[in-house]
Amino acid sequence: MRFSCYDFNMVLPNDWKVTIDKKSQYGSGIISFITPKGIALDIVWENLDRYKAKAPTVEVFINNYFDEMKKNRNIKSLEVVKGTPTTADEHETFPHEFTYKYKQPLSRGVSLKIVGLSMYCLHSNRFVVLYSRTDPKKENPDEAAIRDAIKTFECLCNKNAKL
Ligand SMILES: [Zn+2]
Repeated sequence: MRFSCYDFNMVLPNDWKVTIDKKSQYGSGIISFITPKGIALDIVWENLDRYKAKAPTVEVFINNYFDEMKKNRNIKSLEVVKGTPTTADEHETFPHEFTYKYKQPLSRGVSLKIVGLSMYCLHSNRFVVLYSRTDPKKENPDEAAIRDAIKTFECLCNKNAKL
């Protein structure tokens, strides 16, 4: 099915559940998609100004983000697969996947795999992140479907405005 809300557009399997956080509005919010096997894919968005002040492009943002993770002593390992950043029609998009192990002193470690995408929407001035967080030690039967859905994600803010 095609999901469209707040100018975000994505194609996803018909059996996924959709929850829109009650506080969501055009400028900021959270939308969660849940697969029948209980894996979540979230869209989180906020005003872009604060992010852009520190990182002028989404590529710089992502590189800074991973640099910070590498400096964090509680992160024991980090494997990053970065996609190719693209810029089209006032939208900078950067798909990314990474796996890391996080362990605070005196606590058990956690391993996480993130499949996601970050976007600077320069037209509506929104910072958008899509991500799915799973345990890399467990088989994730929905990973391919999640990747496919992320690939279809678009922000149509400037196209819709012209209608
Ligand atoms: Zn947009």
